[in-house]
Parts: sequence; structure tokens; C-alpha cells
Amino acid sequence: MVNLLDFNETGLIRFCQEAGEKPYRAKQLLRWMHQFGQSEFAEMSDLAKGFRSKLAALAMIQPPTIVSDHTASDGTRKWLLSTGASNAVEMVFIPEPNRGTLCVSSQVGCALACSFCSTGRQGFNRNLTAAEIIGQLWWANKLLRANGDEAVSTGEPASASRAVTNVVMMGMGEPLANFDNLVIALDLMLSDYAYGLSRRRVTVSTSGLVPAIDRLRERCPVALAISLHAPNDALRDHLVPINKKYPIQTLLAACERYLPAAPRDFVTFEYVMLDGVNDSVEQARELVRLVRNIPCKLNLIPFNGFTASGYRRSKTAAISVFRDVLMQAGIVTTVRKTRGDDIDAACGQLAGQVQDKTRRTRVRAAIDTEITG
Ligand code: SAH
Ligand code: SF4
Repeated sequence: MVNLLDFNETGLIRFCQEAGEKPYRAKQLLRWMHQFGQSEFAEMSDLAKGFRSKLAALAMIQPPTIVSDHTASDGTRKWLLSTGASNAVEMVFIPEPNRGTLCVSSQVGCALACSFCSTGRQGFNRNLTAAEIIGQLWWANKLLRANGDEAVSTGEPASASRAVTNVVMMGMGEPLANFDNLVIALDLMLSDYAYGLSRRRVTVSTSGLVPAIDRLRERCPVALAISLHAPNDALRDHLVPINKKYPIQTLLAACERYLPAAPRDFVTFEYVMLDGVNDSVEQARELVRLVRNIPCKLNLIPFNGFTASGYRRSKTAAISVFRDVLMQAGIVTTVRKTRGDDIDAACGQLAGQVQDKTRRTRVRAAIDTEITG
């Protein structure tokens, strides 16, 4: 039994052909599943009865199961989705006056172990399937519509009546470490028969898997955000360990290759603000020298704490000074507003439930004991 949420248009066309049906059936199926949120073949009224029963015998439409649903005081909403066998991931909806952004997870946990990230501390279990990735958008649109949330018009036809106008791959996991499933889900986000979002409204955030950045450029160039977090390799090696494999200059070269294909004429650099670690004026100047020649925007993210993180959020004044140094050098810099922190829905706080399959949590526990005791 195949799950039809695992297919983009190409995959569905192949499925229809193998079932002895015309390729245009794929478009009808996409509309039913993704635009109308339908999961029952029997309700797909413009499909021939024979095709509907064939579908019921061959396939299913199975999004992940919702385990919990919390709304923060600022309206941010977080859902926990079960991905089987004591594993669960989180997705977060951030409503704003003229848009609604869904923060989507790509893996159960993350193997890359950035030191300041709650997901990274939990270790890694597995990649999400394409159905589990797109299933998050599927659910969010369905639940927010049911909620009667004001739909926002983006001026783009297929998304005109949708609550989710933007998607950021900034939930749990490293999206580019799950490339094949990610791009199927991206195809659906962009398809006019599914969610119809424009490329600039879909952002992939990566800690810097260089070969996969190149593949994304060729396969599906959506907006790109890079988790930079440090102005030099010595510090970045420590905060974002994948830097040892793909150091900063290698990463920046990949950004420059990406730009001609990007839907916006800049890349976004994310920079988590850690008190006394990466937030000095000298480090701001070093950052300016580093990114000066790349068309970019800087997004400063005040660190969001979690139990035993070992880090503190930079002081508000330090964040302002850091931002001013960048702005004075002509680099557009924003400070990300912390949303949903009363329900642990802010950046880096997503934890879900991860049965670690790596040795990460054990190694980490040993390090913590060494530090604290
Ligand atoms: N794995 C991807 C996307 C998920 S994290 C990546 O690393 O880019 C989304 C953003 O939140 C990243 O920039 C990440 O570095 C940042 N982040 C992680 N932990 C954080 C924390 N505790 N506080 C603030 N931002 C955090
Ligand atoms: Fe993984 Fe991103 Fe967290 Fe690093 S910041 S551990 S890459 S989810």
C-alpha cells in the first residue's frame, strides 16, 4: 500500500499510469489531497467510481497523527506529530498581520549536534518521509481553516485562501541531510495543483552541507538561509561542528554559486546571539569583513534557552550594538522576534520526542558530567 502523500506530481503521474489511468488524474488527486485536504477517496466526487475503488485497493492518504496542540499567548501555535515508535516531531505556526509562517521539521532529531540547539542535543533517529514533511503543511492548512483563522491573500492565485503563506524549513532536523524527501515536499509546496507557494515564500535553512546546497540550486532553488553563527572557523567549529568538514570559505563559495539561481537576490545568514560567546563588537566587525562581498541579509536570533544548555542569551544592549555595527557597514540586519517561548516553540527549543540511535546523547551526557562534576 503506497501513501500518496509521498508523491510529487511526477510520482503521481507514474502511479496513475501504472494503475492504467490517464496522467491528468494526477492533477485531480493533487488538488483533492492538498488543496481540499481530502484523505478519503470515496469523497473525491469527480473521479470515476472504478478509479476510486482501485485507489482504495492500492493506496492510502496518510498524514502523521497529531498528538498535541498548544497555543502561546502571542498566538503562536505548536503541534506535536507522532512519527511512530515513540518518536514525534514538532511544527510551529507563527501568525503575523500579513502572513502566516509554518516552521516545518525534516528529521526526528538531528545528527549534526550544534552545541546550542535543543534538537541537536537529542541525537538522531531517522529522516522524515516526504509524506511526513508535507503532512505538516497538510495538517496546518486543515486545522487553521477549521479554526476559522483569517486567511491571508498573498496576491498569488493558488495560495489566496490559505492560512499558511510561507514555509520555513527551520523545525527539527537538518533539511539538506534528508535531500530526496525534502525536494519532493518542496515540489508540492510550489505546485499550483497543491499549495502554490512561490519560491521566495519557501525557505530552506541549513547548517551548511555544501554539496547539498549545490544540489538544491540545480533541483529546486528556493530561498536559502545559512546558519552561520560565528565569524571565524575556530569558533564555528565549536558551535556548528559540520564546519570542520565544510569550513566558512567553502560555505560562502557555495552561497555565491547559489545566488544566480535564488528567488531573491540575497542569502540570509542566521546568527544566534550567545552571551559572551559570539556577540562582541570585535566579532561583529569580523563578521562584516567576512560577508561584505556577498549579497546577504543578517538575521540575529536571540538565543532561546533550554534545560542545561550551558548558554545565555546575549544582553539586549549587546544585540543592538552588534546590529548597529552591521547596519553601519551597509548590511541589512534584523533581529528575530522571539515567538511562542511560553510553550517552548521558539527557534532551537523544539524537542519532540527522539529515540536516539546515535551515541550522541550518551557522549553528551558524559561531557556534561565532566563539565559539571
Ligand atoms: N538544521 C537547520 C534548520 C533548523 S534550526 C539549521 O541549522 O539551519 C533553525 C535555526 O534556529 C538555525 O539557524 C539554528 O541554528 C537556530 N537555533 C538552534 N538552536 C537555537 C537556540 N537555542 N536559540 C536560537 N536559535 C537556535
Ligand atoms: Fe541540527 Fe540545525 Fe540544530 Fe544544528 S541547529 S543541531 S543542524 S537542527
